[in-house]
Amino acid sequence: MSKSIKDMGWDELVQGAALFSFEGDVDYEMSQVQPEDRNYAETNSRNAYVGDWRVEKPVFNKDFCIDCQFCWIYCPDTSIIARDKKMIGVDMDHCKGCGICVEVCPTNPKSLLMFNENTDNEEALTQWPEKSEEKGE
Ligand code: SF4
Ligand code: SF4
Repeated sequence: MSKSIKDMGWDELVQGAALFSFEGDVDYEMSQVQPEDRNYAETNSRNAYVGDWRVEKPVFNKDFCIDCQFCWIYCPDTSIIARDKKMIGVDMDHCKGCGICVEVCPTNPKSLLMFNENTDNEEALTQWPEKSEEKGE
């Protein structure tokens, strides 16, 4: 019986193997359903927890967010969760802690900040900085 690809080591894959993201065709219909309802292939990393690379994590403070969607656009791991053009949080199963979302967040203070992975989110929110003076003002 052949092994499930999930049970295989990286060095067991056949050279030139193609890993497909979805079962079936990728078409317009797929864009009409929420990401969690799409028909992911077994080999899609969505099915795996890959957040254990992080040493720091982004914490979201909705009090300052203006829903500009910059974080959603720039996240290299599609880990910003948005609904109806509103930022609602971070997919911590897949976020790698790169900090790009924090860099591009334009609010003052920022609506996303990096904290140590082990910091409690509620605790992080109590440490949020005040609005800072803009340069040139
Ligand atoms: S830290 Fe990096 S991977 Fe995580 S949500 Fe922000 S941009 Fe995406
Ligand atoms: S970049 Fe900042 S202000 Fe814009 S949606 Fe993301 S968290 Fe909100």
